[in-house]
Amino acid sequence: MTGQANPFESLQEQVDDAAAFLDASPGVIDRLKNPERVLETNLTFELDDGSLETVRAYRSQFNGDRGPYKGGIRYHPGVTRDEVKALSGWMAYKCAVVDIPYGGGKGGIAIDPTDYSEAELERLTRAFATELRPLIGEDRDIPAPDVNTGQREMNWIKDTYETLENTTAPGVITGKALDSGGSEGRVEATGRSVALSAREAFDWLGRDIAGATVAVQGYGNAGSIAAALLDDLGADVVAVSDSSGGIYAPDGFDPRAVKDHKAETGSVSGYADAESITNEEVLTRDIDILVPAALENAIDGDLAADVRADLVVEAANGPLTPDADDVLADKDVYVVPDILANAGGVTVSYFEWVQNRQRFYWTEERVNEELERVIVDAFDRLVDSYETNDALNLRTAAYVVAIDRIVDAYDQAGNWP
Ligand code: GLU
Repeated sequence: MTGQANPFESLQEQVDDAAAFLDASPGVIDRLKNPERVLETNLTFELDDGSLETVRAYRSQFNGDRGPYKGGIRYHPGVTRDEVKALSGWMAYKCAVVDIPYGGGKGGIAIDPTDYSEAELERLTRAFATELRPLIGEDRDIPAPDVNTGQREMNWIKDTYETLENTTAPGVITGKALDSGGSEGRVEATGRSVALSAREAFDWLGRDIAGATVAVQGYGNAGSIAAALLDDLGADVVAVSDSSGGIYAPDGFDPRAVKDHKAETGSVSGYADAESITNEEVLTRDIDILVPAALENAIDGDLAADVRADLVVEAANGPLTPDADDVLADKDVYVVPDILANAGGVTVSYFEWVQNRQRFYWTEERVNEELERVIVDAFDRLVDSYETNDALNLRTAAYVVAIDRIVDAYDQAGNWP
């Protein structure tokens, strides 16, 4: 976690806000505010110089009422037990909002991966996969990439699991490379749902995305691809930042060229024909659409007071604190919540898993079409919930949809044993 707010407390507050619109019993709501179980483990692995190091790792299985636990694994020094618990809850609500048959889970290792060689990261990842083996499985809990992990780590986890289980089980993990059973369109999927959410929200507000100005905070996988796809929709990306700082060009820049610049130099800073600005200035630019795409707590109540966008589309998980939500709602700034806006990643993970189970692979065109249908339907359902419940904001409306679906599944199964 980056700022002051505890993300797990934020999650619990978000659930309470939505529970006020539902008549679920307090015991069931309490269940939906806490993970079913959390693995906390210490992984000891060998460094290249032969010495041993021990690091903290977690896997939270938040809720499995609608299907196997599902969610990524992040490598970041800010990983804590509470952060992973919160992220696992957001996964459960995310899967329910887009109506895919999964519960929610999340894992993390508290390291800065840039401190380690590739061989060290492989040994650490395989140690984590070995520890996770009894908990995960194609029908049990299905990890995926998250902050600072990608195809490479997923391939190691798949290989470790399959070797130890003496089987092939590509659906035990998603976000794999294509030749290891990955899906077309998975790398772009999170950014794609962010761009689609922005388009749908602008349409709902009676505005055209073409010509809209956009600022993107965080230029990793989600942020850089959302920027490129928003540019394809005719929007002008005028400000972006990463951990090194921000850049601004009033007429917009080519987001793909900025991505190439970051790939070459390690940061967006120093991109030609752009003014240097701070991360905070990116968040408070006078633009139409703001896309926070980094970590939790990027915008708190104080910063929200200075936000000048008309629409915020959350590409990161948990980038706004509950205080920020209240401030933005008071200013009539709409927020498309993370649990819908960035759900493209897990949705295409679901498609990957379906393809793995069927041993039958789809074209990129089919993946993108199915993804668009899921996001557009989920956005329509969200607006319906917002309007019929007269909810304070779109986030609460999304939680109402999600909690309703999870509680239905729970009630239908019955409380046993
Ligand atoms: N880590 C991504 C998320 O936060 C993707 C999870 C998945 O594909 O399971 O949604």
